[in-house]
Amino acid sequence: MTEFAHLRHGMVDVQLARRGIRDRRVLNAMKQIPRERFVEPGFEEFAYEDGALPIANGQTISQPYIVALMTEAAELKPPDKVLEVGTGSGYAAAVASRLAKTVHTIERHEDLARIAAGRLAALGYDNCIVHTGDGTRGLPEAAPFDAILVAAGGPVVPDALKRQLSIGGRLLIPVGDSEQEQSLLRITRLSDTEYDEETFGAVRFVPLIGEQGWAEDGTRSASNHVPGRTHFRSLTEMMGAAVEPLPSFCDPDFGALFDRFAQSRVVLLGEASHGTSEFYQARAAITRHLIENHGFTTVAVEADWPDAAAIDRYVRHRRSRGPDEKPFERFPTWMWRNTDVAAFVEWMREHNNGKPAGKQAAWFGLDIYNMRSSIAAVLFYLDSVDPEAAAVARERYGCLTPWQREPSTYGRAVLTKGYRKCEAEVIRQCQDILGKQLDYAASDPDSFLDAAQNARLVASAERYYRIMYYGGAESWNLRDTHMFETLGHILDAQGPRSKAVVWAHNSHIGDARFTEMGAVREELNIGQLCREKFADAACLIGFGTHTGTVAAASDWDGKMEVMQVRPSRPDSYERQFHDAGVVRGLLEFRRDESLRRRLLEPRLERFIGVIYRPNTELQSHYAEASMPQQFDAFLWFDETNAVAPLGPEHRRAGLPDTYPFGL
Ligand code: SAM
Repeated sequence: MTEFAHLRHGMVDVQLARRGIRDRRVLNAMKQIPRERFVEPGFEEFAYEDGALPIANGQTISQPYIVALMTEAAELKPPDKVLEVGTGSGYAAAVASRLAKTVHTIERHEDLARIAAGRLAALGYDNCIVHTGDGTRGLPEAAPFDAILVAAGGPVVPDALKRQLSIGGRLLIPVGDSEQEQSLLRITRLSDTEYDEETFGAVRFVPLIGEQGWAEDGTRSASNHVPGRTHFRSLTEMMGAAVEPLPSFCDPDFGALFDRFAQSRVVLLGEASHGTSEFYQARAAITRHLIENHGFTTVAVEADWPDAAAIDRYVRHRRSRGPDEKPFERFPTWMWRNTDVAAFVEWMREHNNGKPAGKQAAWFGLDIYNMRSSIAAVLFYLDSVDPEAAAVARERYGCLTPWQREPSTYGRAVLTKGYRKCEAEVIRQCQDILGKQLDYAASDPDSFLDAAQNARLVASAERYYRIMYYGGAESWNLRDTHMFETLGHILDAQGPRSKAVVWAHNSHIGDARFTEMGAVREELNIGQLCREKFADAACLIGFGTHTGTVAAASDWDGKMEVMQVRPSRPDSYERQFHDAGVVRGLLEFRRDESLRRRLLEPRLERFIGVIYRPNTELQSHYAEASMPQQFDAFLWFDETNAVAPLGPEHRRAGLPDTYPFGL
């Protein structure tokens, strides 16, 4: 493959496919057409960058994404006759010529038209016919057209173009009062007199100059005033109309709003920070509803497996491991030891009371950080079912003993002291336990699942800490792959009809391919893996806020503080919700295709983890994403509050000391 072909394929993948262009014919056409041959001499090296480039006469060759978006929206078919207004370099005409039978393209600048005609002929695009003239009048001699694509922005939709559409024909045109920004419209001719109109988002084109466009001096041409002109809805208006208001958390109507997602095998509920009460409360209310009404029996959370297992024993009325069991003691404790989680845990215990094991709802952890407790849990299990195997396991895990308290230093030790043999030992231990499933699991499958998962965790964690030392995508990918596989093991253990709700941060839940994580850093996540495995049976719901307070630390291992969340940035998705005046609401992207398309173009999105650094907020907490592709729906709370960590005052009389978080 030549270097340009390589760049072209990269452009199609990153700039088009990942931004939501789905039509394979459009993507394939744009993989073939040598854009470097349409730019001005000297600009070839920029031909596959993500933007418009200057051409002669002060005009531009449009951004590849816009060409793809318009061409896809025009729904060109092989027998179609197409008119393009604004030939410019001829590139968009060449793309259309691969998808339709004939392309007439008209350019007002004679020089541009001549150069483009020569170029298209030289490259063999023989079904393109270039004309010179004012395209706002259309091309009556060749009309009607199955599609008309206008590559310049006018103040109104020229009447001539509408009239030159065949019935069923599509006109794509940027329209707006200002030359700075227009709305991309698709007008479909339904009958002699009727037209349908849809908006496809904000765009910015050079002006359409002509009889039914702008005058040369930037004013409106005399004849372009069309009475009763359509009112184009702003993005804020569209958002305001599309977002469904949320009732209070305890209102049954709150949960019922999520019935539409109940057919999913996995419902993934995100959060924009690890310390926001409304996010936990909303997830609890949705999960309660899904458990009570739709057969969900698993809650799988971004918490360490052995810690979550202690909660699971509590909610399923199983025996605790005793006074040594003190889950969620590690930083950041407030993430799970908070009043919202405690209330939900209490609800699960109550819900499970008196139910047979198969009908109870279980609480599992997907994360890998607590290697020490996992080792202890494997040994505890083997001590009770197979003491000889326990002795072998003790020996094998002994290799990791020096790092159990500070596993993050393990990677360096492996490098310098050749501790590589730990890898083989922990893998063998995991295989041994899995190999004895038939013996071990027969009497108590739940305890076997717990032990097997802990053994898997030790093997993943050994690798995780080893490669974490190098940084980069590999350790992130290993962690998210482990979390995804753990979810799979849980679902498998519960049978083919089992359904799970996942609680994790937006960065794990929102499909990574449509964020900087995937597009720039090659990171994947649970949301992406779930979509790849479960397709439409995976539902990804993100959460967000404009401002308020959050529980977070300033540094890793630091003290929890209640911090003020800065109002969201003007160039973020969050600000769109805020400006639309949404106080609390649910936006399901597939319910409004015009809005979905308007939101597709990547914007900034805020990610707060357990650390919040307001002073460097842009660099530390914002990343670009295409929200309607990242999530299926988004839950909005304009102003939010920090979670309340559990303190001694929450201790309950009569309950064990460990209730429910080992206080
Ligand atoms: N499709 C072109 C490409 O792929 O290179 C990009 C076109 S450029 C963004 C817009 C073009 O529209 C300019 O070349 C401009 O001269 C032309 N234009 C503006 N008003 C026009 C009109 N009334 N009739 C024909 N062409 C017009």
